[in-house]
Amino acid sequence: MKLPVRHAILSALVAAAPAARAATETQALVEERIGAQYPSLEALYRDLHAHPELSLQEEKTSAKVAAELRAAGLEVTEKFAGTGVVGVLRNGPGPVVLIRTDMDALPVKEDTGLPYASTVRAANLSGVEMPVMHACGHDVHMTVFVGTARMLAGLRDRWSGTVVMVGQPAEEFVVGARNMLSAGLYRRFPKPDYAIGLHDEPALPTGSVGFAEGYFSANADSVDITVRGIGGHGAAPENTKDPIVLASQIVLALQTIVSRELHPGERAVVTVGTIHGGTKNNIIPDEVKLQLTLRSYDAAVREHLVASIRRICRGEAIAAGVPEDLMPVVTVVGSSADAIYNDPALTRRVRSAVAGWLGEAKVRSVEPVMVSEDFSQYGRTVEKVPICFFMLGASDPARLEESKRTGVPLPSLHSSRFAPVVEPTIRTGIAAMTAAAMDLLGKP
Ligand SMILES: [Zn+2]
Ligand SMILES: [Zn+2]
Repeated sequence: MKLPVRHAILSALVAAAPAARAATETQALVEERIGAQYPSLEALYRDLHAHPELSLQEEKTSAKVAAELRAAGLEVTEKFAGTGVVGVLRNGPGPVVLIRTDMDALPVKEDTGLPYASTVRAANLSGVEMPVMHACGHDVHMTVFVGTARMLAGLRDRWSGTVVMVGQPAEEFVVGARNMLSAGLYRRFPKPDYAIGLHDEPALPTGSVGFAEGYFSANADSVDITVRGIGGHGAAPENTKDPIVLASQIVLALQTIVSRELHPGERAVVTVGTIHGGTKNNIIPDEVKLQLTLRSYDAAVREHLVASIRRICRGEAIAAGVPEDLMPVVTVVGSSADAIYNDPALTRRVRSAVAGWLGEAKVRSVEPVMVSEDFSQYGRTVEKVPICFFMLGASDPARLEESKRTGVPLPSLHSSRFAPVVEPTIRTGIAAMTAAAMDLLGKP
């Protein structure tokens, strides 16, 4: 006969040493409370999921998060750096732990068929109406965040220190974290000794979590190139400098940056995502435009990619005989994201605390990803706060196995069919976050 989890844990107490016994007892209490509060947490999740809001417009979402934090007993500041929310839980001397959730959704038309699927349409910042969906699972993050706040507020006799809970806008624009930090997050609120966060992950089974020490997500940069030439008649190429041929040479030469210039163990991506030029069969145009995305982990590699792109563009243009005043124009554009670097010591500590609660079998080592995440910014200020960002498994294990067997991928983050398994993903997230925070906070 299989004993219920709580009884199994309590019976294990008999043999445990005093410190381990206190930890095991706290864990049993947290599991019991998550169980008792689960219906209200799932209701919150469904509400957030059905009412997504686009980046920088998280008005109702942030109000809900703020109300939940206030109800849990935190001092709450709303409308910080736009729609940001900061909740502070002061509980005596000790470390300051920052816990972050993002809050924004994406312009995606939901196609999950779920009973609580979003049918929301809203105007984006340019006034164009778009369908809106929590296709990145930020609704999962918010629910875990609220559950963690409730747990920590209810366990004040078991820890000492300060918890700063940050509801961050506009992660998908990679500006939300920067906005909150430049508005004085670390000056107007207690400065953290540690910052932790998580992201749901369809490649991991629900009930599990994944950690990577060191680099976790990539630097992402966008580069625009205007390749200039001298246009003319398509039947008289001798009178022109053809930017279409030159752009083609450049696209191929760019492929050698990663394959020939970087150390084989170094990871980076140079992708040309768009190429546009010309209007008609028999006209050689004056220019061709290229748009690239670059990914890297290491800062020196990041600089190397851009420098190589500039060198190759100029070199190919010289080889094509383009005059000096028409050299290609290379521009690094937009708000680029910095790589997340998970502090190794902090990550090992959080991982072992989470493994102590969930069991070693539920905790995995994961490879860094090439996507970007602006949680990186919390560790990139002058304060050099150690950060740890981990993955929360969100897929049905049977479906993951089937996907591995058939080679048919499951819907990924940002897909219109992304539907994280809610139970036990939310429970696992709350247990993992609470375990991590309790370990980092001081003992009374
Ligand atoms: Zn996303
Ligand atoms: Zn996301």
